Amino acid sequence: MAKYIGPKCRLCRTEGKQLFLKGDRCFDKNKCAMFRNSSAPGMHGAKRKKLSGYGEQLREKQRIRKIYGVLEKQFRIYIDHAMRAKGISGENLLRILESRLDNVVLKANFAPSRSAARQLIGHGHFLVNGKKVNIASVIVKPNDVIEVAEKSRQVLPIKASVENAGKRGTAEWLDVNAEKFRVQVKRLPERSDIDPQLNEQLVIEYYSR
Ligand code: SF4
Repeated sequence: MAKYIGPKCRLCRTEGKQLFLKGDRCFDKNKCAMFRNSSAPGMHGAKRKKLSGYGEQLREKQRIRKIYGVLEKQFRIYIDHAMRAKGISGENLLRILESRLDNVVLKANFAPSRSAARQLIGHGHFLVNGKKVNIASVIVKPNDVIEVAEKSRQVLPIKASVENAGKRGTAEWLDVNAEKFRVQVKRLPERSDIDPQLNEQLVIEYYSR
């Protein structure tokens, strides 16, 4: 499946739920498209059909995939890892998604959204354990240290995100030092650290059919 490059708000309207893809804008009722028109895109969007069991599983899979900005092929690989690992498959899946470098950069408040985080990582603004990393899908481990490269600390989206960090709070599994533009992974995220509205079990059921 090709990378989606259309309007992000359209993805929220397709899912009928906020996916929080545009940073601070998503928290402003006057700016978020879902508060103006939450019907599905297209001519017949106003009539949402009642979903079957399969439909619900499919929609939740798509919703979680879009929230984390992962293409189908990569998502399938994460599912395989999650199902093979010990423990609850759904929780394993969310743990993998949360441990992606782009998510950590977002949760540490070094970027306003995951897509901005991916772009900033791609431009080489971040170091992992002292080495420049430009791959957003890198999975971090406990004790890893992620830093904004020294020359990148004045880059506008990074600087603005750090300044706005107070509004958003930080994840408990991360130890953020905003003054040093540095975050250390204290531990892997638990289910209680992750959005309770995600229904990962439906995703596992979708792939277990
Ligand atoms: Fe979705 Fe609203 Fe954010 Fe647009 S502004 S991406 S509709 S949550």
